[in-house]
Amino acid sequence: MGTTMLRLDTPDTAFVHWLNSRHLNPSPKTVDSLWLNITSLCNQRCAHCHVRASPDSGIHMTDDIIQQCLRVLEKFQQIRTVDLTGGAPELHPGFERIVGALTEMGKKVVVRHNLTVTLDGNPVTGESKLALPQFFADNQVEILASLPYLEAGPTDAVRGRGVFRKSIESLRLLNAAGYGTRGLALILVVNSDQPLTLSGRIELEQLFKSRLGEFGIMIDGILTVTNLIIGRHAVSLRRRGRLRNTENSLRRSAIELSIERALCRSRLSVGIDGRLYDCDFNFALGLPVGDIFAFDLDRLLARDIRFGEHCYGCIAGAGSG
Ligand code: SF4
Repeated sequence: MGTTMLRLDTPDTAFVHWLNSRHLNPSPKTVDSLWLNITSLCNQRCAHCHVRASPDSGIHMTDDIIQQCLRVLEKFQQIRTVDLTGGAPELHPGFERIVGALTEMGKKVVVRHNLTVTLDGNPVTGESKLALPQFFADNQVEILASLPYLEAGPTDAVRGRGVFRKSIESLRLLNAAGYGTRGLALILVVNSDQPLTLSGRIELEQLFKSRLGEFGIMIDGILTVTNLIIGRHAVSLRRRGRLRNTENSLRRSAIELSIERALCRSRLSVGIDGRLYDCDFNFALGLPVGDIFAFDLDRLLARDIRFGEHCYGCIAGAGSG
């Protein structure tokens, strides 16, 4: 059976010209991971949030779309990992049900966890979320927890007042449930405006382990993510006069690194509205490549990835897209 390629308008950006100048046409290799953006609701309102999640932004993925995602995941066994993200994915009213269904299917479930939701609870309903660490452990969920800095000042400046203190408390609860202590992996996602070298990352990981050790907290490692220049982060860099310098630095790093590692070559994101995207950042930028209700793996593997200016940061810094 022939496969029709999905040809979509790709922004005419410096990144696309850079690819063309090197005769590079990176194409999808596989889809082994699906990201589900299940809610825009969050208990925080972070300055760098690329999807502008907040306590006032309560759009949840509907049951219809979730059921269709589950059907696709059941059918395509090669999609082994499901990343639940948002907003704070734990604030979707069906969060526990979704995790249960995925676990039953034998999928590896990863939750992008902001740490504070455990203590803050649901900002709309007031529902307590204190049971989350034990729920994660019972379902063997892998946690990618956000802690951008090791001090209260910069953390609270980016993520809100009191966030550092609550994050430390929440990490202790995760340790008590077995994360970082009894075989359940606890990885921290650390944001950076600039991409780091390998030795820089190792040094930073040691620093995080030793400083958190002073609080009696154990972690397994860190994952560094470059803040992409979109959404609130772009506005903030422009206001501080740092936009051009940061863009140039990401550009130089991207040129040195391989396009092979682009995450969009092995995963897809599902937006709250059920549309499919190459990655979470293309979701934030509104650049769809399909729809979960018309999921055709052959066509998706033959698609053109919608590269844009933001891809410099993602490729250079192992972005979370
Ligand atoms: S915790 Fe995550 S989802 Fe929530 S506002 Fe911050 S970056 Fe966005």
